Amino acid sequence: MFELKRTANCGQLGIEDMGRTVTLNGWVHRIRNHGGIYFINLRDRYGNVQLVVDEQASSEVRAIGEKLKMEFCIAVRGTVRPRPQNMVNKDMQSGAIELAPTKLKVLNSCPPLPFVLDGEDEANENLRLQYRYLDLRTQGMQQRLKLRHECTWALRKYLNECAFWEIETPTLIRSTPEGARDYLVPSRINPGHFYALPQSPQLYKQILMAGGIDRYYQLARCYRDEDARGDRQPEFTQVDLEMSFVGRDDVLTVAEGMMARIFKEILDIKIPIPFKRLSWQETMENYGTDKPDLRFGLEFTDFSPFVASSNFSMFKKVLHSGGTVKAILAPGAAMSYSRKKIAETEEVAKSQGAEGLAWMRVSNEGLEGGVSKFFTGQASKIITELEAEAGDLILIIGADREITLRSLCEIRNRVGSNLGLIEANSYSFCWIIDFPLFEKNPESDTWKATHHIFSKPQDKFLDRIEDNPGEVIGDLYDLVLNGNEIASGSVRIHEVELQKRVLKLLGFPEAQARKRFGFLLDALSYGAPPHAGIAIGFDRLMMIIAQKNTIREVIAFPKNTQGISPMDRSPSTIDENQLTELYLSSMPH
Ligand code: ASP
Repeated sequence: MFELKRTANCGQLGIEDMGRTVTLNGWVHRIRNHGGIYFINLRDRYGNVQLVVDEQASSEVRAIGEKLKMEFCIAVRGTVRPRPQNMVNKDMQSGAIELAPTKLKVLNSCPPLPFVLDGEDEANENLRLQYRYLDLRTQGMQQRLKLRHECTWALRKYLNECAFWEIETPTLIRSTPEGARDYLVPSRINPGHFYALPQSPQLYKQILMAGGIDRYYQLARCYRDEDARGDRQPEFTQVDLEMSFVGRDDVLTVAEGMMARIFKEILDIKIPIPFKRLSWQETMENYGTDKPDLRFGLEFTDFSPFVASSNFSMFKKVLHSGGTVKAILAPGAAMSYSRKKIAETEEVAKSQGAEGLAWMRVSNEGLEGGVSKFFTGQASKIITELEAEAGDLILIIGADREITLRSLCEIRNRVGSNLGLIEANSYSFCWIIDFPLFEKNPESDTWKATHHIFSKPQDKFLDRIEDNPGEVIGDLYDLVLNGNEIASGSVRIHEVELQKRVLKLLGFPEAQARKRFGFLLDALSYGAPPHAGIAIGFDRLMMIIAQKNTIREVIAFPKNTQGISPMDRSPSTIDENQLTELYLSSMPH
C-alpha cells in the first residue's frame, strides 16, 4: 500500500473533528497563493477541505506545497484546526475548519487542464468526452452518477420486494427484426455466421416467462444501429421487466409503484398514483402527439364545426379535402403576443408543414383581429366552447390532419413555456394506452407493427387482423413524463397460432417465421403462460430527474452526436489481419 493512505475523506470533516490528526487523499481542486501562504482546496468524491500551508509548515511541506498544480493527486497528513472567524465558509460543509499539513506527498502530477473543471456548461462537449476522466471529476458528473446509482439501487430494492428476479440475458444473440437495424458481430469460430447485439432482451424475457420464471427484470443494455440524430445513443439502458399470468393493469401498477418509489427516495417528491390513462386516439386529438406534456393544459379544440358554418373559404377548402382545423386558447396572451410574436409562432407552424397560422383575440366585445371577421356571428359560441376570457388569444391551424396535429402540438409546447405555464420541478406522468397495433409502411404499402411484432391485439379485434389491420387496437402502453416517452410495453401474444397470424400479416409467412423466430414459436407452443411487460428508458428517466437536456449527461461514457467516443476513438478501423481472421474483407468507401 502507498504511504499516507487516507484515514478520513474530505467530505466527513467538520467542527467536531477539531484537533484530530487525519490523512487525506484527493485532488488539488483549487490553489491560491496569498503572499506565500498556500490555500489548497483538496477534493475527493465525498467533498472538499481546505489545506493551509503557511509559515509554520515544515520546509519540506512548503517545498511540495509550492509545486502543486490543479488536479495533482496528493496525500496529506495534518491536524484539523478551526479557521479564523473571518474565513469561515458557510457554503462548504467543512467551511469552519482547515488542515495544517505536517506531511504532504504528490501521488501523481497533472499537466495543464484542457478545460476548466466545473465549468461544464462552457466547456466544449467533445473536449469533455475526450477527457472524460477529468470531466467525471466534476461535481455535476459526480452528482449525476450518484443519482443514477441511487435510482438503480432504489428500483432494485423495489422490484425485489415485488418478487422480481434479476436475470441477465445474452448480448450475443440471433439477429431478429425488432424495428431498428442490428449491430452485428462476426463469429470467428463459425465462419460466415454472425451474432447480433440485442435491440432489447424482448425474446429472452418472453422465453423466461415460458420457462416459469414468473417475474423478471434486468438493467439491460440495448443496441440499435440507427442514424445518429437527436439525443440517440447506439447503446442505452432499459429497466426491462416481464410478468406472467397478468394483464395490462398489473404491469402499469408495478411501473407506477416503481416511479413513486424512485421519486420519493431520490427527490423526496410524492408522485400521486395511479397515473392518468389516456387512449392514443384521444391523446392525438387533444394534444397532437402521443407524448403530451401534461404539466400544462392548452388542449386542442376541434374548430371544424365553426369553420363549416363560417365563410372562411381557405379553411373550408381544407375541410372539403379531408383536412382538420384545430385551435388552442393561449390564456391572457392577447397582449403579450404581438404581431411579431405571432409571426414567429407562425414560423413554427410552417416548419411543421402548415401553410400558416390563423389567430384572433378575445375581448370584452367578442373576437378581434386576425381572422375574427369570418367568425363574428359565432363569437359567443366560440368563446363558450373554448372557455375563453377577454385577453386570451386563439391560435388556429387548418391543414391535412397530420400536419394540423403536428404543428399545433409544436405551437402548444412553445406557448406553454412562453406563457410560463410549466411549473418548475413539476412532474406529470400519464399512460397512453390503446394504440393501433399496426401501421402502414408508407414506402412499401405493407403493414408493420407500431410497437413490436410480439404485442397482442385486444380480444375484440382478433377477427380483424387480416381484413382490417389498421383498425386493430393493441394492448400497448407508453408511460409519458413531462412530454417524454419514458417507458413502453405491451401484453404479449402467448399463443403460437395468433403469433403466426400476426407474423404472416407483417410479411413473415410460416416458413420465414419458422426460420427467424422458430425458437420463440416453439417456446410459445410448449405451454407458455399469458404474459406482459414493459421497458423503461433509464437514461431518459435519469436525464429528467437530473434536469438535463441530453442523456449524455447521465451516462458515464456516452458517444457524441456522431456516434463516436472521442475518448477511445471508437469506432475505429481494424487491422487487415483481424478481418482475415473473421473471414471478412473491407469494402472501399
Ligand atoms: N422491448 C420493448 C422495447 O424495447 C419494450 C417492451 O415491450 O417491453 O421497446
